[in-house]
Amino acid sequence: MNPSEIIAHAKEKGRKLLLEHEAKSLISHYGIPTTKVKVAESEEDAVRAANEIGYPVVLKIVSPEVIHKSDVGGVKVNLKSEEEVENAYKSIVNSVKENAPNARIVGVLVQEFAPPGLELIIGLIRDPQFGPTVMFGLGGIFVEVYKDISFRVAPLVEMDADSMIKEIKAYKLLTGFRGMKPVDLNALKDTLIRAGQIGLDSDEIAEMDLNPVIAYPDGLKVVDARIILR
Ligand code: ADP
Ligand code: MG
Repeated sequence: MNPSEIIAHAKEKGRKLLLEHEAKSLISHYGIPTTKVKVAESEEDAVRAANEIGYPVVLKIVSPEVIHKSDVGGVKVNLKSEEEVENAYKSIVNSVKENAPNARIVGVLVQEFAPPGLELIIGLIRDPQFGPTVMFGLGGIFVEVYKDISFRVAPLVEMDADSMIKEIKAYKLLTGFRGMKPVDLNALKDTLIRAGQIGLDSDEIAEMDLNPVIAYPDGLKVVDARIILR
């Protein structure tokens, strides 16, 4: 399905939330790198998907009512064998039933495990005055505690992407710090520009949250994506 079909499909189902695999499919149409994913509806399905994708894998709850998956025990990372996948499947379904009894469980999303790197956040909001606006920051406490973020109104050109990256206080961490290698700033700029394009193309998208995006010395990968429709 192309981006407008993905959006139309969710609306038909009466949903304002794109499920993670739908959001990832939409952004991959724009060339934004993301994990391979497969929806599984049973333990056997999940094992089959894991074998196809290759280990280690991550399992996550798929439910239109669950927005913050880890809050309800809906995420298990770095699973290395069929047995771990089976156990994670059971444990996710049980904890979601316990923590969110009204959530409809569509299945469990199996995806490749992205190796550790620098966790970033890329967002898209719709400013009432300026329209689609891209947000950038570092993951975790940098955004939540320090509010260390930058914004640019779409469309972004390379210079905008470049200056919004350099503007955050934590910029130093991106350039190689204490023995860490610098992250791939070209890949990051590309992704910021493409995020803005998504906002310009799809009027129906109210907000998008790519959190986290894991950045590496060579490339990056979006490991969680949430899109809310208007
Ligand atoms: P939530 O809905 O709670 O935001 P996420 O999909 O972001 O759920 O998963 C929670 C955390 O698990 C992420 O912040 C990230 O650190 C880790 N994680 C999720 N997916 C992957 C993945 N494919 N590879 C590696 N780590 C992941
Ligand atoms: Mg997340």
